[in-house]
Amino acid sequence: MTKRLGISLSEERIYQTCRTDWPLSKRFAFTVIDDTDGATLENVKPVYELLLALGIHTTKTVWPLVSTETEPEEGSSLENVPYLEWVRAIKRQGVEIGIHGAASRSSDRLRSQESLNRFHSLMGHYPQVYTIHVGQQEGIYWGEDRLSGSARWLYKIIHRLKGHDRAYSGHKSNSPYFWGDICQERITYVRNLVFSDVNTLKMDPAMPYHDPRRPYVRYWFSASDGADVNCFCRLLSASNQDRLLESGGACIVYTHFASGFVENGRLHAEFKRLMERLAGLPGWFVPVSTLLDHLRSRPGWKETADPRYLTRLEWRWLLQKLLTGTS
Ligand SMILES: [Zn+2]
Repeated sequence: MTKRLGISLSEERIYQTCRTDWPLSKRFAFTVIDDTDGATLENVKPVYELLLALGIHTTKTVWPLVSTETEPEEGSSLENVPYLEWVRAIKRQGVEIGIHGAASRSSDRLRSQESLNRFHSLMGHYPQVYTIHVGQQEGIYWGEDRLSGSARWLYKIIHRLKGHDRAYSGHKSNSPYFWGDICQERITYVRNLVFSDVNTLKMDPAMPYHDPRRPYVRYWFSASDGADVNCFCRLLSASNQDRLLESGGACIVYTHFASGFVENGRLHAEFKRLMERLAGLPGWFVPVSTLLDHLRSRPGWKETADPRYLTRLEWRWLLQKLLTGTS
């Protein structure tokens, strides 16, 4: 490793080989994937109004179905008509809509199928992007199954010691929660590892990548950690924005816009200031799948990741997670 939790020389080489020119002579790329946990019209609408006014196009995940397990809701679903109408409106303005699973809790194969059909009938197409939610047993290759070899065993031991013993079986064909084949057929990109560096592409220079050990996912991608408003503002500080610009890299922030970005109807002042600053820089502000499609077209990009690369990526993520608690 060149530095603690930094990237190794091999990754530096891949990063340099796969450097890409951004369209429209832009000098870096930036986008956000918004995890829909806790989202309601009241607590996320002002965020999208700001981003769209600034020309920053991002990806919002949704739950097509309301959960049958929880009361009250853990965030609105597309079964909520005013929320659905708003989601359709921001989609028309350039926000990409992805899914965060079928509903806020576990869904069996039939419900997963129903949710994708519902998404298709409401949006006119299947989602291109999927992020897995911790409360869903149908998660695909999640929990310890995100990792291989000794990293997997270390992860497993730590989680058992912490009393976290969640099982995910969306990729196991003998499970009632199996929908891996449907995911493979319908969905292009699935989010995996999250890093604390603002330059996501530098942490995972091969993304998006296919991992043959996890065939039900066509392509995985990484993200940078902006879990709540404080974390987001630290990640997009003025100095990190400048660093991203100078490096010519790409940042995909993983966040929850329902987590403190709007209080009593008002936008978080620091978040607003930082986004206005960012919008003034020559960045390419497009949704996640547009950014990933572009990365797939760059010279030197390989569809299938080298197993040695994946081992280094997994260890880098695991060590960072143990030290900083990123997801
Ligand atoms: Zn979630």
